[in-house]
Amino acid sequence: MNSNNNAWLKEHNTVHLMHPMQDPKALHENRPLIIQSGKGVHITDIDGRRFIDCQGGLWCVNAGYGRREIIDAVTRQMEELAYYSLFPGSTNAPAIALSQKLTEVAAEEGMVKASFGLGGSDAVESALKIARQYWKLEGQPDKVKFISLYNGYHGLNFGGMSACGGNAWKSSYEPLMPGFFQVESPHLYRNPFTNDPEELAEICAQILERQIEMQAPGTIAALIAEPVQGAGGVIVPPASYWPRLRQICDKYDILLIADEVITGLGRSGSLFGSRGWGVKPDIMCLAKGISSGYVPLSATLVNSRVAQAWERDAGFTSVYMHGYTYSGHPVSCAAALAAIDIVLDENLAENARVVGDYFLQKLLTLKEKHRAIGDVRGKGLMLAVELVKDRATKEPFGPADAYPLAISEACVSNGVMIRTIVNKLIISPPLTFTKEHVDEVVEVLDRAFVANPW
Ligand code: PMP
Repeated sequence: MNSNNNAWLKEHNTVHLMHPMQDPKALHENRPLIIQSGKGVHITDIDGRRFIDCQGGLWCVNAGYGRREIIDAVTRQMEELAYYSLFPGSTNAPAIALSQKLTEVAAEEGMVKASFGLGGSDAVESALKIARQYWKLEGQPDKVKFISLYNGYHGLNFGGMSACGGNAWKSSYEPLMPGFFQVESPHLYRNPFTNDPEELAEICAQILERQIEMQAPGTIAALIAEPVQGAGGVIVPPASYWPRLRQICDKYDILLIADEVITGLGRSGSLFGSRGWGVKPDIMCLAKGISSGYVPLSATLVNSRVAQAWERDAGFTSVYMHGYTYSGHPVSCAAALAAIDIVLDENLAENARVVGDYFLQKLLTLKEKHRAIGDVRGKGLMLAVELVKDRATKEPFGPADAYPLAISEACVSNGVMIRTIVNKLIISPPLTFTKEHVDEVVEVLDRAFVANPW
């Protein structure tokens, strides 16, 4: 942490440190930025270079960097009580207060209880375990399977990874959990069926129904999906799709789990992604924006239908045999209480909607100018620019192609931190972003494409 030691830090980044989702050999060549400080929507690296953070950390710093309210809440809590557990015999005030707060902000979705973890993968794992135990308590122990969508991302613990809808996330770690099945997601830009959004939603809904019938509804615990698919490439479903998911789950008596790890707390332009589609899930997974990334925290929320199963004497054990040392960590919960207040008080979901719409329009203008841009899409402040070799065939740049990285590196050289996932530029800045920030980013992107013509 010694700023005089920059050369040492750069040299040692890969020596003892395993980086997520990267080939260590490639990291020796392609050295990442070492980020040292952050303020508002800006970050600065150890060489003193300042960037607009178009990633929002990793889709998580919703309130922006350096927020005094969160820093003070964390400091106060550490001074008062650094840790106490929620395991039998004790609890702590911030965890109680946060569970109440979350059920208040998700009252429209009917959420009544929260189970805490440390990150998105925990939130998903908890949701899957809650769903299985729910059906056992309900006297239907055969309902154990999970259905999810192609391109879906649900974290990398074994349960969530088994629900992921992309082979690249799973193949090195097989065999996965049995009982997980994936079906087509409504990806308008890349599907073999139609260019009509509502027709596509209906086709995908019917494929889902066929899968449920094939598996037998009496064996299925839940459907898990993201209101807007994030890591899979910011895939925004047609408006009718999520209401259809709710209908289908009701028809076959299957729980609906909304993985809101990215969309929760404002990012997609409403407080929750499900709310944006007018849908009430049974279980909601929250992480990232819940604490604006300041400290690790996740929550899995359940509605009264799910919660009541634990209230009855079911003849099956109703002990909730799940949780971690740090479930309901008082410091994390204190941070989240402050972070959520910022999102609510500053109406950041609405800001994400307005500034996100503006961003999308600007990116569409960029698409007119640069033929390597095949598609531009997004909802709120989660957006993607998809790069293709040929617009007519939509042939994507692959992992071995240097072009997408050349674009993002040109952006970084000009002060905009932007991430690529294979052939997609991913945009997910803090929700405090303004239209002026958007103009700055789009100008830098424009210059990057001009400097790297395709
Ligand atoms: N679900 C979704 C929808 C996510 O986007 C992510 C992370 N990007 C996760 C789960 C896993 O979260 P984490 O990396 O915090 O474990």
